[in-house]
Amino acid sequence: NKFVFVTGGVMSGLGKGITAASTGRLLANAGFDVTAVKIDPYLNVDAGTMNPYQHGEVYVLKDGGEVDLDLGNYERFLDIDMTFDHNVTTGKLYKNVIEKERAGDYLGKTVQIIPHITDDIKRRIREAAAGHDVCIVEVGGTVGDIEGMPYLEALRQFAHEEAEEDILFTHVTLVPYSQTGEQKTKPTQHSVKELRSIGLQPDVLVGRCEDRLESDVKEKIALFCDVPTDAVFSNPDVADIYHVPLMVEEEGLDQYVMERLGLADEALPKAER
Ligand code: ADP
Repeated sequence: NKFVFVTGGVMSGLGKGITAASTGRLLANAGFDVTAVKIDPYLNVDAGTMNPYQHGEVYVLKDGGEVDLDLGNYERFLDIDMTFDHNVTTGKLYKNVIEKERAGDYLGKTVQIIPHITDDIKRRIREAAAGHDVCIVEVGGTVGDIEGMPYLEALRQFAHEEAEEDILFTHVTLVPYSQTGEQKTKPTQHSVKELRSIGLQPDVLVGRCEDRLESDVKEKIALFCDVPTDAVFSNPDVADIYHVPLMVEEEGLDQYVMERLGLADEALPKAER
């Protein structure tokens, strides 16, 4: 199993989900069996009881699971059917751990976020990924949110437990224009600093911007965030989100990810994708 963990910085609604789904689409085009897990750090067990005015219409999976609309993006981009197990919420985790505690399964131990909640996060990701070549795991929310902390800790442990070439961290941030028309990297720098303070070093950075990132902007991001320049990609504004996979493919995101995960040799030749 290979895992691509996708986190977001600066603000929500950036296009983290679309970037994650696009990465998955390109790996699927290259011949890999790709699945996805969406992590929603809210205490609702599922999206079924959430106000559609606030959250959009609930998305219903084939197995009846009531989930976030994002799962619909994954189903459409990847052309797969997902199950309720592919949506991890804080509500589900706590419900399960507390029920086990009441049943005495922890044999009197003190039940804690680390290790009990983090172990349950890791278990759910591994189970959802079983049998697939690649699992894309998107962490909802923004790095630094209190709600997201147990997940990022679980991912840190996960990466520690797996081989280095099996895990890739992608971080999606905003690259805004200043009033003088420059693409600004400071929000990205701060967001990566936040990520590193909890022990995670991104392998790939994707900048959401009105336009493609300029090459000197990529170099600056690379230098300050400690990644190679060719690990920095743009996700520019497009009229149709189904163009996003093509935009990131043009910059070579798929090739970079496959090389980093040791998948490049098994990938279908470009002409057959
Ligand atoms: P996040 O996961 O960061 O909250 P989403 O991936 O759900 O963000 O995207 C937020 C909104 O932005 C969605 O409505 C999506 O369709 C739109 N969007 C994402 N990427 C792009 C893009 N490159 N160009 C235009 N709109 C985009």
